Amino acid sequence: MAEGKVWIKRGREKPIRNQHPWIFSGAIGRAENAVDGELVTLVDHKNRFLARGYWNSQSQIQARVMSWQDETIDGAWWRAMLSRALALRASDLVDSEKAACRLVNAENDFIPGLIIDRYADWYVLQALTRYIDNQKVAITAALADVTGARHVYERSDAAARKREGLPQATGILRGGPLPDLIEIEDGRRFLVDIKSGQKTGFYLDQRDNRQLLRELVRRHSADASGKARLLNLFSYTGGFALAASDVGRVHSVNVDASRPALELAERNFRLNGYDEAAHGETAEFIQADAFDYLRHCARENMLFDCVVLDPPKLAHHKTQIQRAARGYKDLNLNAFKLIVAGGYLMTFSCSGAISRDMFQKIVFGALADSGRQAQVISHLSAGADHPVALTFPEGEYLTGLLLRVL
Ligand code: SAH
Repeated sequence: MAEGKVWIKRGREKPIRNQHPWIFSGAIGRAENAVDGELVTLVDHKNRFLARGYWNSQSQIQARVMSWQDETIDGAWWRAMLSRALALRASDLVDSEKAACRLVNAENDFIPGLIIDRYADWYVLQALTRYIDNQKVAITAALADVTGARHVYERSDAAARKREGLPQATGILRGGPLPDLIEIEDGRRFLVDIKSGQKTGFYLDQRDNRQLLRELVRRHSADASGKARLLNLFSYTGGFALAASDVGRVHSVNVDASRPALELAERNFRLNGYDEAAHGETAEFIQADAFDYLRHCARENMLFDCVVLDPPKLAHHKTQIQRAARGYKDLNLNAFKLIVAGGYLMTFSCSGAISRDMFQKIVFGALADSGRQAQVISHLSAGADHPVALTFPEGEYLTGLLLRVL
């Protein structure tokens, strides 16, 4: 059967010409032979070529652009795209044996719907759309050609698949058997559970911010007499606290709702040489709701030199912005109350629906209610292996602030 063809309505082709990859139903005039999960050619109302993309009538985003050139999308195309993505990552993230990094960041690497993360000798593939789902065997082959990947695991269990009319899919795509845990090196040593951990197993996007925290604590504790007290809220497997503990003289309180995450955090501390005996002094691991725990700290008049607030996505959709804003404000307000004068707050939102600006306003509101003063030391975002295409503002989800609190 001939490949599908999709006519874009007159006047609706501009975003496509400007390299935005999403095409909603309202922009589509007519479709011929378009099959869900297959490639289509996109043309304007005068039948002039616009782009090549893929189709899914069951999704709100009916087409996504794979290329703005009239080119064949085949094995060679995949190898070229994956090679380029690989070449764009820092060499220390791809050359070293235990490195972990995001190799393909979907639309932001101009491959809509595809995420590939690497954890040492395992690659984790996440297919978020029907076409990518159909192509996963071909993509795995191209990935092996380009990277020499021997082991590939699929974690296509993200909520976004529902919106594409796809069930969840997980399992080995190549190689194996899958070990229970994979050890990676990301500043410190970490054990990653790619089978049942969150996201594809680890929050790779926070690498640079963990490093920044480490630097901050290093400078801070150089002139402080005792241990720096760190409250690491939404700790997951301990990423921020471990980075900071590198410096020594840090006591971290790690709080998360997930028992398995905290267990892994404890193991990660041990893996980095914080043994059982010294353990109690270095880090605590507390299973609790972080919102409640913050209030508990305030009641107990606890004080910290630094608080990290890295909550899960509180707004999954535009309709949840108001409620999410109240959540972020509550967290930040209570965090401000616990920080010593001259201490720091590292605060994040990973809700794409909440803009950088809006987040800053929410934190400002929390500050005003707390009666404290604060200075912005840095604006934070995801690391360079999570680039954002300039033509695709939707690709920016992680935003944060490093504040000095007075
Ligand atoms: N800072 C972490 C990533 C945090 S992801 C890192 O650097 O790796 C968000 C975490 O919040 C998850 O581990 C999740 O288990 C936890 N979580 C979600 N809701 C929570 C709640 N109400 N209270 C405490 N933890 C929560």
